[in-house]
Amino acid sequence: MQKDVKSIIHDLKKMHGKPRCELAFSNPIELVVATVLSAQATDQKVNEVTRSLFAKYRTWKDYINVPVEELEEDIRPTGFYRNKAKAIKNIALEIEGRFKGQIPQDIDTFATVKGIGRKSANLIVGLAFEKPAIIVDTHVIRLSQRIGFTKNKDPDKIELDMRKIVPENLWTDFSLLMTLHGRYLCKAKKPECERCLIRESCDYFMGGKRDV
Ligand code: SF4
Repeated sequence: MQKDVKSIIHDLKKMHGKPRCELAFSNPIELVVATVLSAQATDQKVNEVTRSLFAKYRTWKDYINVPVEELEEDIRPTGFYRNKAKAIKNIALEIEGRFKGQIPQDIDTFATVKGIGRKSANLIVGLAFEKPAIIVDTHVIRLSQRIGFTKNKDPDKIELDMRKIVPENLWTDFSLLMTLHGRYLCKAKKPECERCLIRESCDYFMGGKRDV
Protein backbone atom coordinates (compact mmCIF):
# COMPACT_ATOMS: atom_id res chain seq x y z
CA MET A 1 0.00 0.00 0.00
CA GLN A 2 1.33 3.46 -0.98
CA LYS A 3 1.97 5.57 2.14
CA ASP A 4 1.24 9.28 2.43
CA VAL A 5 4.04 10.06 4.88
CA LYS A 6 3.06 13.71 5.42
CA SER A 7 -0.47 12.74 6.34
CA ILE A 8 0.85 10.00 8.66
CA ILE A 9 3.08 12.57 10.39
CA HIS A 10 0.12 14.93 10.69
CA ASP A 11 -1.94 12.20 12.38
CA LEU A 12 0.94 11.13 14.62
CA LYS A 13 1.16 14.75 15.83
CA LYS A 14 -2.57 14.74 16.53
CA MET A 15 -2.11 11.68 18.74
CA HIS A 16 1.17 12.53 20.46
CA GLY A 17 1.67 16.29 20.20
CA LYS A 18 4.95 17.95 19.34
CA PRO A 19 7.76 15.60 18.25
CA ARG A 20 10.05 15.32 21.26
CA CYS A 21 12.69 13.23 22.95
CA GLU A 22 11.85 12.46 26.56
CA LEU A 23 15.46 12.51 27.75
CA ALA A 24 16.31 15.79 29.51
CA PHE A 25 19.44 17.60 28.28
CA SER A 26 20.64 21.14 27.71
CA ASN A 27 23.73 20.60 25.54
CA PRO A 28 25.25 17.90 23.26
CA ILE A 29 27.51 16.37 25.94
CA GLU A 30 24.50 15.86 28.21
CA LEU A 31 22.57 14.19 25.41
CA VAL A 32 25.46 11.80 24.70
CA VAL A 33 25.64 10.79 28.38
CA ALA A 34 21.84 10.51 28.73
CA THR A 35 21.74 8.33 25.61
CA VAL A 36 24.33 5.93 27.04
CA LEU A 37 22.42 5.79 30.34
CA SER A 38 19.11 5.13 28.58
CA ALA A 39 20.10 1.59 27.54
CA GLN A 40 17.79 -0.79 29.45
CA ALA A 41 16.47 2.12 31.56
CA THR A 42 13.40 4.33 31.28
CA ASP A 43 13.84 7.95 30.26
CA GLN A 44 12.20 8.90 33.56
CA LYS A 45 14.86 7.04 35.57
CA VAL A 46 17.65 8.54 33.45
CA ASN A 47 16.25 12.04 33.97
CA GLU A 48 16.13 11.50 37.74
CA VAL A 49 19.81 10.54 37.73
CA THR A 50 21.04 13.19 35.30
CA ARG A 51 19.49 16.04 37.30
CA SER A 52 22.37 15.84 39.78
CA LEU A 53 24.88 14.20 37.41
CA PHE A 54 24.86 17.12 34.98
CA ALA A 55 25.36 19.60 37.82
CA LYS A 56 28.53 17.71 38.79
CA TYR A 57 29.96 16.83 35.34
CA ARG A 58 30.04 19.58 32.74
CA THR A 59 32.90 18.75 30.37
CA TRP A 60 34.43 15.64 28.81
CA LYS A 61 37.44 16.18 31.08
CA ASP A 62 35.16 15.88 34.13
CA TYR A 63 34.17 12.39 32.95
CA ILE A 64 37.77 11.49 32.09
CA ASN A 65 39.27 12.65 35.39
CA VAL A 66 36.75 11.14 37.81
CA PRO A 67 37.66 7.70 39.25
CA VAL A 68 35.52 5.12 37.48
CA GLU A 69 34.12 3.87 40.83
CA GLU A 70 32.78 7.34 41.61
CA LEU A 71 31.11 7.64 38.21
CA GLU A 72 29.63 4.15 38.68
CA GLU A 73 28.05 5.25 41.96
CA ASP A 74 26.69 8.43 40.38
CA ILE A 75 24.87 6.52 37.64
CA ARG A 76 24.08 3.31 39.52
CA PRO A 77 20.24 3.65 39.57
CA THR A 78 20.11 3.43 35.76
CA GLY A 79 21.37 -0.17 35.88
CA PHE A 80 24.33 -1.80 34.08
CA TYR A 81 26.29 1.01 35.69
CA ARG A 82 29.73 -0.59 35.36
CA ASN A 83 29.43 -0.98 31.58
CA LYS A 84 27.84 2.44 31.24
CA ALA A 85 30.56 4.17 33.29
CA LYS A 86 33.23 2.50 31.17
CA ALA A 87 31.41 3.46 27.96
CA ILE A 88 31.04 7.11 29.03
CA LYS A 89 34.72 7.33 29.92
CA ASN A 90 35.76 5.73 26.60
CA ILE A 91 33.52 8.08 24.62
CA ALA A 92 34.89 11.09 26.52
CA LEU A 93 38.48 9.98 25.86
CA GLU A 94 37.84 9.31 22.18
CA ILE A 95 36.06 12.61 21.58
CA GLU A 96 38.83 14.49 23.37
CA GLY A 97 41.57 12.52 21.59
CA ARG A 98 40.22 12.24 18.06
CA PHE A 99 38.00 15.31 17.79
CA LYS A 100 39.55 17.85 20.18
CA GLY A 101 36.54 17.61 22.45
CA GLN A 102 34.02 18.43 19.72
CA ILE A 103 31.27 15.91 19.04
CA PRO A 104 31.28 15.16 15.29
CA GLN A 105 28.20 16.58 13.60
CA ASP A 106 28.44 14.05 10.79
CA ILE A 107 26.46 10.89 11.56
CA ASP A 108 28.82 8.48 9.76
CA THR A 109 31.88 9.90 11.53
CA PHE A 110 30.23 10.02 14.94
CA ALA A 111 29.06 6.42 14.61
CA THR A 112 32.72 5.33 14.43
CA VAL A 113 33.21 6.34 18.08
CA LYS A 114 33.27 3.17 20.20
CA GLY A 115 30.08 2.96 22.24
CA ILE A 116 28.10 5.16 19.83
CA GLY A 117 26.08 3.10 17.36
CA ARG A 118 24.18 4.50 14.40
CA LYS A 119 21.01 4.87 16.48
CA SER A 120 22.76 7.06 19.06
CA ALA A 121 24.69 9.00 16.42
CA ASN A 122 21.46 9.81 14.60
CA LEU A 123 19.67 10.74 17.83
CA ILE A 124 22.43 13.07 19.04
CA VAL A 125 23.14 14.71 15.69
CA GLY A 126 19.41 15.06 15.01
CA LEU A 127 18.53 16.60 18.36
CA ALA A 128 21.65 18.36 19.58
CA PHE A 129 22.67 19.76 16.18
CA GLU A 130 19.23 19.81 14.55
CA LYS A 131 20.36 17.95 11.45
CA PRO A 132 18.05 15.53 9.63
CA ALA A 133 18.36 12.09 11.21
CA ILE A 134 16.46 8.81 11.06
CA ILE A 135 16.68 7.33 14.55
CA VAL A 136 16.01 3.61 14.37
CA ASP A 137 15.26 2.42 17.89
CA THR A 138 13.29 -0.65 18.90
CA HIS A 139 9.97 1.17 18.37
CA VAL A 140 10.88 2.40 14.90
CA ILE A 141 12.00 -1.12 13.94
CA ARG A 142 8.67 -2.59 15.06
CA LEU A 143 6.41 0.14 13.69
CA SER A 144 8.09 0.51 10.32
CA GLN A 145 7.47 -3.18 9.74
CA ARG A 146 3.90 -3.14 11.05
CA ILE A 147 2.88 -0.08 9.09
CA GLY A 148 4.58 -1.47 6.01
CA PHE A 149 7.37 1.01 5.38
CA THR A 150 9.93 -1.77 5.14
CA LYS A 151 10.33 -5.51 5.16
CA ASN A 152 13.87 -5.24 6.51
CA LYS A 153 14.73 -6.16 10.07
CA ASP A 154 18.27 -4.83 10.12
CA PRO A 155 18.31 -1.28 11.63
CA ASP A 156 20.86 0.04 9.11
CA LYS A 157 18.72 -1.16 6.21
CA ILE A 158 15.57 0.28 7.81
CA GLU A 159 17.38 3.61 8.13
CA LEU A 160 18.16 3.56 4.41
CA ASP A 161 14.57 2.59 3.52
CA MET A 162 13.13 5.39 5.66
CA ARG A 163 15.56 7.92 4.18
CA LYS A 164 14.04 7.19 0.77
CA ILE A 165 10.41 7.35 1.92
CA VAL A 166 10.42 10.33 4.30
CA PRO A 167 11.24 13.88 3.10
CA GLU A 168 14.63 14.83 4.54
CA ASN A 169 13.38 17.87 6.46
CA LEU A 170 10.98 15.57 8.35
CA TRP A 171 13.39 12.75 9.22
CA THR A 172 13.94 13.70 12.86
CA ASP A 173 10.32 14.62 13.61
CA PHE A 174 9.15 11.43 11.96
CA SER A 175 11.52 9.28 14.03
CA LEU A 176 10.56 10.96 17.30
CA LEU A 177 6.84 10.60 16.56
CA MET A 178 7.24 6.93 15.66
CA THR A 179 9.01 6.34 18.97
CA LEU A 180 6.23 8.11 20.90
CA HIS A 181 3.63 6.10 18.99
CA GLY A 182 5.42 2.85 19.80
CA ARG A 183 5.82 3.78 23.42
CA TYR A 184 2.24 4.88 24.10
CA LEU A 185 -0.06 3.26 21.54
CA CYS A 186 1.47 0.85 19.05
CA LYS A 187 2.96 -1.18 21.88
CA ALA A 188 4.95 -4.35 21.28
CA LYS A 189 2.51 -6.80 22.86
CA LYS A 190 -0.85 -5.19 22.19
CA PRO A 191 -1.11 -2.29 19.77
CA GLU A 192 -4.21 -0.18 20.41
CA CYS A 193 -5.34 -0.12 16.78
CA GLU A 194 -8.88 1.08 17.50
CA ARG A 195 -7.50 4.35 18.92
CA CYS A 196 -4.93 4.78 16.17
CA LEU A 197 -5.49 7.53 13.60
CA ILE A 198 -3.13 6.01 11.05
CA ARG A 199 -4.75 2.60 10.98
CA GLU A 200 -6.00 2.97 7.41
CA SER A 201 -2.41 3.45 6.27
CA CYS A 202 -1.19 0.50 8.31
CA ASP A 203 -0.58 -2.89 6.71
CA TYR A 204 -0.88 -4.61 10.08
CA PHE A 205 -4.38 -3.24 10.64
CA MET A 206 -5.59 -3.37 7.05
CA GLY A 207 -4.16 -6.87 6.69
CA GLY A 208 -6.58 -8.05 9.32
CA LYS A 209 -4.26 -8.38 12.33
CA ARG A 210 -6.45 -6.16 14.48
CA ASP A 211 -5.39 -6.57 18.06
CA VAL A 212 -8.46 -4.93 19.54
S1 SF4 B 1 -3.05 0.52 13.36
FE1 SF4 B 1 -2.30 -0.68 15.10
S2 SF4 B 1 -0.47 -1.71 14.36
FE2 SF4 B 1 -0.93 -0.03 12.92
S3 SF4 B 1 0.26 1.71 13.64
FE3 SF4 B 1 -1.75 1.88 14.57
S4 SF4 B 1 -1.57 0.85 16.57
FE4 SF4 B 1 0.17 0.22 15.31
